Amino acid sequence: MPAKQKRMTKKDAIHPYGEKQEQFDRRYLRMAAVWSENSYCQRRKVGALIVKDKMIISDGYNGTPAGFENVCEDENNVTKPYVLHAEANAITKVARSNNSSENATLYITDSPCMECAKLIIQSGIRRVVYSNQYRNPDGIELLKRADIELLYIDFGEKKNEI
Ligand SMILES: [Zn+2]
Repeated sequence: MPAKQKRMTKKDAIHPYGEKQEQFDRRYLRMAAVWSENSYCQRRKVGALIVKDKMIISDGYNGTPAGFENVCEDENNVTKPYVLHAEANAITKVARSNNSSENATLYITDSPCMECAKLIIQSGIRRVVYSNQYRNPDGIELLKRADIELLYIDFGEKKNEI
């Protein structure tokens, strides 16, 4: 089997929906956007889903670790250093489950930062579908180097219609 399919028409482990892959990618990304509404962070709300074998195996949104106050910003409206990013929450949630993120797809409303890109690579996630481009492209560049498949879907103005 060729290492990479130009068009995602054939079903394989990381494209289980075959021809309908992009349609499902958009719907999962839209679900991640809805999920981001759970975040109590004021500056930015980010949502993530991890999907494997047509099942959502984890979810996350940005926020403080379990047991900490539900406030992301300090008195100067600066994000606290211990706030976890949505994808870090989703990946660590898998670690507490009986599931594995090997060969899974991560849906994330905002492009991953460098720290989260490292976690994505180590978790065995093979595809990342994202929307808003983070101003710093370092995370995306690292994912490219690790040969992780990337799909950018533009929310544009029609966030609810993708
Ligand atoms: Zn991050």
